[in-house]
Amino acid sequence: MSEKNKSKDLSSRKVLAMRDVQEAAASGAGRIRIAENCVVTPSARDFVQQRGIVLEVATGSAASAAAPAAGTPAPAPAAVAPANARLFSTPEAEAVKKEICAVGRKLWMRQFVDGNGGNISYRIGPNEVLCTPTLVSKYDLTPEILCLVDLEGNQIAGVRPRTSELLLHLEIYKAVPEAKAVVHCHPPHATAYAITGKIPPNLIVPEFEVFVGKVAISPYETPGTKAFAETVLPYVKEHNTVLLSNHGIVCWADTVTHAEWYAEVLETYCWTLMLAAQLDAPISYISEQHGADLLAIKKKLGLPDARFDASRMKECQLSDVEANGSIALSPNPCEGRTGNSADADMEALIKQVTDAVMESIGTGK
Ligand SMILES: [Zn+2]
Repeated sequence: MSEKNKSKDLSSRKVLAMRDVQEAAASGAGRIRIAENCVVTPSARDFVQQRGIVLEVATGSAASAAAPAAGTPAPAPAAVAPANARLFSTPEAEAVKKEICAVGRKLWMRQFVDGNGGNISYRIGPNEVLCTPTLVSKYDLTPEILCLVDLEGNQIAGVRPRTSELLLHLEIYKAVPEAKAVVHCHPPHATAYAITGKIPPNLIVPEFEVFVGKVAISPYETPGTKAFAETVLPYVKEHNTVLLSNHGIVCWADTVTHAEWYAEVLETYCWTLMLAAQLDAPISYISEQHGADLLAIKKKLGLPDARFDASRMKECQLSDVEANGSIALSPNPCEGRTGNSADADMEALIKQVTDAVMESIGTGK
């Protein structure tokens, strides 16, 4: 049998992805048998056409009989494209693609990503996720180069290969049904905490308490691996933002825009704490009572926080400053901040935060 006639049977696959056709080519196959309803990803289709590899449709006698001769172009995927491939170009997908590009540009402009670092995704169907491609600066994203993948990471559509860090996003989607969008980036001040293993203390800035709250830190693993993706699993149900040891951060939310907001809130918070640490003055902490008010707002908004589960927290220990006292300054909780004017200030702040959150929910996609 000549090389061109050597056939590889992949008719049990629902999706024929780039790596499948590369493996088939590496094994010397000139023909690949696929199921009638198999989805051939655009990159796989391009690859087989360039290599002159023939795709033979395995089921249905007419299709088998009509299998093209060696060297002829593969059957058009339009003939076998399932519903989920069409998700790539729905009006909703086009709107989300634009949002992903805008968020990518924000991440780059704010110096949260360097080189081709960072990645963004959105769960557009029960088993389908739009995501950024690999090896592209987040500043240079355009809707045409984004990818559609399934929850196992197989590419369904898109001309560029998906980000290699997609597995991290997929683990979050599988573990947290409320997660519709994931943003991963490397903002410098938050990453400084991630490389020291320190967790920013709580009860200092209301906005941070409401939008992010108690941050978790996941152990280090090699980026892009399944082991790395799984490091966040113990934390993502109770935290929408996780520090990734020696790496960066990951945030999930209901929209891509909101996930990027959480990255901004955490980064600004970490930066502010570092600036405050340079001042010759102790930090004033928000009182436990006022902290409880903020947590109540957060719970009402449906945002996750490990502190909601009282059994995991000692009574009145919202700040956990002794465990985390990570900015090398002694805490100065409660005293001196519970007078009438401080209370009034706090009321105003809480109202501000609530209004901002309500507005975001009202106007969010
Ligand atoms: Zn990264």
